[in-house]
Amino acid sequence: MQQYPDARSVVRALAPDEPVILNRPHAAARAARFFVEKFPGRSLYAVKANPSPDLIQILWANGITHYDVASIAEVRLVHGLLPDAVLCFMHPVKARGAIREAYFQHGVRTFSLDSVEELEKIVEATRGADGEPAGDLRLCVRLRVSSEYSELSLASKFGCDLTEAPDLLQHCRQFADWLGVCFHVGSQAMTPFAYVQALERTRAAIAAASVVIDMIDVGGGFPSVYPGMEPPPLEDYFAIIHRQFEALPIAYNAELWCEPGRALSAEYSSLIVRVEKRRGEELYINDGAYGALFDAAHVGWKFPVRALEDDLIKPVEGFAFYGPTCDDADFMEGPFELPEDIQAGDYIEIGMIGAYGAAMKTEFNGFGASPRVIVEDAPMASLYDGTLLRERRDNVVSLR
Ligand SMILES: *Cc1c(COP(=O)(O)O)cnc(C)c1O
Repeated sequence: MQQYPDARSVVRALAPDEPVILNRPHAAARAARFFVEKFPGRSLYAVKANPSPDLIQILWANGITHYDVASIAEVRLVHGLLPDAVLCFMHPVKARGAIREAYFQHGVRTFSLDSVEELEKIVEATRGADGEPAGDLRLCVRLRVSSEYSELSLASKFGCDLTEAPDLLQHCRQFADWLGVCFHVGSQAMTPFAYVQALERTRAAIAAASVVIDMIDVGGGFPSVYPGMEPPPLEDYFAIIHRQFEALPIAYNAELWCEPGRALSAEYSSLIVRVEKRRGEELYINDGAYGALFDAAHVGWKFPVRALEDDLIKPVEGFAFYGPTCDDADFMEGPFELPEDIQAGDYIEIGMIGAYGAAMKTEFNGFGASPRVIVEDAPMASLYDGTLLRERRDNVVSLR
């Protein structure tokens, strides 16, 4: 991949007609080292946030050895890239063929589930040639927890209720060599209290089941930084999770896991787009709802933006974006703050699209292509450069 100092140099060198994805390997490496060094347990990478092979290699090189995969395509991808990585199949509803292939061809032993039907499926699909159930299954029961502190809910689709959990945990214990409980508090959890609540529910489920639990997986949900969404430092999340974990009624050698997607990948990429037309306060740009800006269109996500021209005057105003396809829904309301004299032909950098951005691009209407280059400058915002920590520590009241 071509390497440039920053987005402006890319525009000067290429004057690109298509949107360009800018990757920052140093930012992904820093995020990985942060989790490896500071999370009080094991950190898995949730591949769906961004399945880029380059990113996965960077995370591996910086200490991420376990991967949360949710489809057989993700299993094949990561096993092909990293034959020594530990893969955990954490989608609670899987096809039998996917379970069989993951177990027999890719060495997957850890599976999540939220129903007795899924348990039966896993046990059947992994039976040996002798008809005996596999003796090495590592099962993880997904508990439904609240998403009330998160920007994107994951509360309604997966997870068993507290009324079903004890029975399911007992059933699983008969087939599991190693048994865990997992949950997901929703993506971009804006306070560590989200995990306190979920771990209290976990405690209730374990107490009611009275089975031995070998692992607690607090899932993803760790936030990144976006305009209007500045979370407390991740250290606060880690400290609270550790304290709650230590007080659970689980095996003395039980492990603590987390599965960040967003927090490990958001800072990895940004995007250069070009303004193709201006209509009042609306800018028609060449990427959008069917490209890397899916969340900006569908859930009104605010990504940071900056104009890449040197000669624009300072005052800013709020703009909305239209994407390139012929669909009215290809619209991003923003407002995105840009210089008021921005016009057709100008370029914009849109930051923090490494998680659920670059990964969402489609070919719809012929607009999928995006060259990728490496840049060396800092991401447009960061959880890992110490600035957030300093600001927040000066303002302790906001942590309460
Ligand atoms: C999506 C997902 C993750 C990652 O969530 P983030 O909010 O991106 O950290 C982790 N675990 C599971 C099971 C998921 O579905």
